[in-house]
Amino acid sequence: MTDVDTPHEPHDQGMSTRLNWLRAAVLGANDGIVSTAGLVVGVAGATGERSTLLTAGLAGLLAGSMSMAAGEYVSVSTQRASEKAALAQEKRELREQPAAELDELTELLEARGLSADVAREAAEQLTQKDALRAHARVELGIDPDELMNPWHAAWASFLAFTVGALLPLLAIVLPPSSVRLYVTVGAVLAALCLTGWWSARLGAAPTGPAVLRNVLGGALAMAVTYGAGSLLGAVGV
Ligand SMILES: [Zn+2]
Repeated sequence: MTDVDTPHEPHDQGMSTRLNWLRAAVLGANDGIVSTAGLVVGVAGATGERSTLLTAGLAGLLAGSMSMAAGEYVSVSTQRASEKAALAQEKRELREQPAAELDELTELLEARGLSADVAREAAEQLTQKDALRAHARVELGIDPDELMNPWHAAWASFLAFTVGALLPLLAIVLPPSSVRLYVTVGAVLAALCLTGWWSARLGAAPTGPAVLRNVLGGALAMAVTYGAGSLLGAVGV
C-alpha cells in the first residue's frame, strides 16, 4: 500500500498520476452509485414492476456512463490540445532564442531555491540533455511523454460509472419485491461509506467527515426521488 497518511508530495510523477487516476475512478463509481440509486428508488416509489425498474436503471446506467465518458473525452482532449500548443511554442522559442530560454530556465530554478551559480550550472546541464523536456517540466509543469490520452480517460470514467451503477441496479432488481427497497438503501449506503472513505484516503484527507458527507448526500438523493416517485405514483400519473 502507498503511504497516504502523510501529505502527498509530487516527488514521483508516476505515483501521483496513479493516485489521480484511482481517485477519479472512485469518484466516478460514487457518481454511478448515487445517480442510479436515486433513479431506481424514485421509480420504485411509483411502481413495483420489475421490468420497469430494470428498464429505468439500465437506461440511467447507460446515459450516465456515456455522458461521463463524453465529458471526460472533451475535457482531456482540450487539455491535451493546449499542452501540445504550449510545447510547440516552447520548441519554437528554444530554436529561435536559445540564450533567452537558458536565462529563463536559470531564473526559474533560482526561484525554486537554487543559488545563482548552481541554477546556471543546472540549467546548462538540463538544456544540454533535453532542453524541451526541461522547459516543459520546470516552466509548464508537464511531462511531454505523459500527456493524458482522452480515449483512456473516457473509457476509465465509463467503466467506473458503470461499476458503481450496477450496484443499485442489481440491488433493486434481484431481491423479492417486499425487501428490494431495504436491500437497495442498505447496499447503497454501505457502498457510499466505502467510496467516501477510500477517496478521502487517496486524497490524504480526514476520513470521518468525508464518509458522513458522502452517505448523507446519497441518502438525501434517494429520499428526494422516492418522495417524488411516491407522489407521482399516488396521484396515478
Ligand atoms: Zn522556456
